[in-house]
Amino acid sequence: MRVDIVPVGDVPAAVKREASTALRNVYEAEVSIASSQDPPESAYDAGRSQYRADALIDLASRVGTGSKNLAITPEDLFYRRRNYVFGLAYLDGNASVISTYRLHTSSDGGFSERSERAIFADRVRKEVVHEIGHTLGLEHCDNNRCVMNFSPTVREVDRKEQYLCGSCQRFLF
Ligand SMILES: [Zn+2]
Ligand SMILES: [Zn+2]
Repeated sequence: MRVDIVPVGDVPAAVKREASTALRNVYEAEVSIASSQDPPESAYDAGRSQYRADALIDLASRVGTGSKNLAITPEDLFYRRRNYVFGLAYLDGNASVISTYRLHTSSDGGFSERSERAIFADRVRKEVVHEIGHTLGLEHCDNNRCVMNFSPTVREVDRKEQYLCGSCQRFLF
């Protein structure tokens, strides 16, 4: 599998690196980085100051050249009735998106003594692995340590591991 990362807006090199590393480690994916895209104006909701997550999936699907394509953006995303999302993917789709906007919050609920930067990097890796998991057919997992566990807040993101649990792995490999 080759995953093409499509940066949408100003995505720091460190974020691209974390995403690539996570995809190689967990899925043994080949990773390429597409040229940066401007956030699509048509996807912007001025009233909410947010972008529609599904529009960025469409963009990744159009621009990306991988068998899976992943948009990464620093912009804040929403989807349907959810006030914000960290990411979005369709089951078995070829494209997905993650936003780093809300992964920056420094507090991890006292979960560890780690630096803000290390916590942020972990969150990026987990979100990337999670969304690509959906595109490979994985649904949410009840195991709250599994990367496919649903995480509506950073608290849940911080609690889970960067890896697939045994049963999610058996589903894929
Ligand atoms: Zn999910
Ligand atoms: Zn699992």
